[in-house]
Amino acid sequence: MGDPNCIFCKIVAGELPATIVDEDERTIAFMDIAPATRGHALVIPRVHSGDLLSVDPQDLSAVALAARRLAGSAKERLGADGVNLLNSCGSAAWQTVFHFHVHVIPRYEGDPLRLPWVPGEGDPEQIATAAQELSGR
Ligand code: AMP
Ligand code: ZN
Repeated sequence: MGDPNCIFCKIVAGELPATIVDEDERTIAFMDIAPATRGHALVIPRVHSGDLLSVDPQDLSAVALAARRLAGSAKERLGADGVNLLNSCGSAAWQTVFHFHVHVIPRYEGDPLRLPWVPGEGDPEQIATAAQELSGR
């Protein structure tokens, strides 16, 4: 059972091929077909949910633990120097597949990935008002 239009549900069901690298009761992890770096994998819950805000909390925990497992393997087995975990929630945040997933992206010293924003001094007033709104205080 899953969302009939969801490609990741089809991977869970074995209806679409994927190179699976980790699995447990609640999650599977497979290689991204368009890797950002060598070893880029995706961790998903077996049960469909669209994004970070709708995923079952226990599935979220299981995905986080699986992502950490893979991060460890990337360092130990692939010789990664670091790892980025990435989740995109919503199309404004680059999400393109609407089955919750976490990218596990091994990082290597000198690899070509760059931060997608330019760090710079923030406007203290804007930071403070955003914090107030965000915290509801
Ligand atoms: P996002 O843009 O965060 O929603 O990530 C979706 C990711 O899924 C992208 O990195 C795609 O390369 C990857 N992807 C899409 N279809 C497949 C597939 N059939 N098997 C493996 N990875 C896929
Ligand atoms: Zn799905």
